[in-house]
Amino acid sequence: RRLVLGLDVGGSKTHAILSDGETVLAEVLAGSANPASVGVEEAARQLRSVFERIVDAPLAAIIAGVAGADTAPAALRFRELLAIHRPGARVSVVHDSELLLATAGVGSGIAVISGTGSVGWARDEQGRTARAGGWGYLLGDEGSGYWVTRMAMRHALERVDQGEPADLLSQQLASDCGLQGPAELLDHFTANPERRFWASRARVVFELAHDGDPTACAIVSGAADHLTFFATSAGGRLGLTGPVVLAGGQLVHQPLLQRAVRERLESRGYGDIRVLDRDPVHGAVDLALALAAA
Ligand code: BGC
Repeated sequence: RRLVLGLDVGGSKTHAILSDGETVLAEVLAGSANPASVGVEEAARQLRSVFERIVDAPLAAIIAGVAGADTAPAALRFRELLAIHRPGARVSVVHDSELLLATAGVGSGIAVISGTGSVGWARDEQGRTARAGGWGYLLGDEGSGYWVTRMAMRHALERVDQGEPADLLSQQLASDCGLQGPAELLDHFTANPERRFWASRARVVFELAHDGDPTACAIVSGAADHLTFFATSAGGRLGLTGPVVLAGGQLVHQPLLQRAVRERLESRGYGDIRVLDRDPVHGAVDLALALAAA
């Protein structure tokens, strides 16, 4: 029996499955082991805790899909963090988008992620790939959970600066952070800059957009425009119009955003749009089984 390990290393969590190809032998959830989000030391600590929680048997292959492993050096660094735990295993680090296509069972197509971060990524039949966005939260990640909250925060802070009373969005955002009002938001942000926390405040914006709040609606619509552009830009360079796999917490769990992106893509002739319905870690296991058999 050959054992393989699949890892989905996102900006907010790490999900691991140990499998022999037939059964899930262990499943572990840990904090983010993503160096781009939590730094190398914390990433190494979280990985150690994952490996401590699975059997100490030799592994034939390990595949890790890592948000932020966009460049060869970043992938290599993560590979080194992994390899120390099971020296005999074949190890491969792939971009999280690649994991999504594998999870959807799609060899060639376009992945759009909006989770903590965002990206558009495509792969054609020849294995050529193209990326749009996904530069991380400081430079881009438009349409992501973090970006949605960032837009709402900017709106709230502009109102504070201009001496305008709190509107619904500003007040809800403050309340969701356990604060009295929007005037306290800036200090709260400075004291708690954690990305995951702010990305999950996007929920406030989606709830208000659902009720028709104009500012919240405009933010969601802007997010959909960006994500659509990521898909068409990455896909367009490879001449692809589908399938398009929508993934990440915001795209999977926020129907408003999902619908808006779907409509925009359909109006541009992208027909085969799917929402990821399995956890991406399963794609990592599939890829690891293939690597072990290769
Ligand atoms: C990262 C990308 C990743 C995207 C979606 C961004 O913050 O920089 O590498 O693909 O989030 O997870």
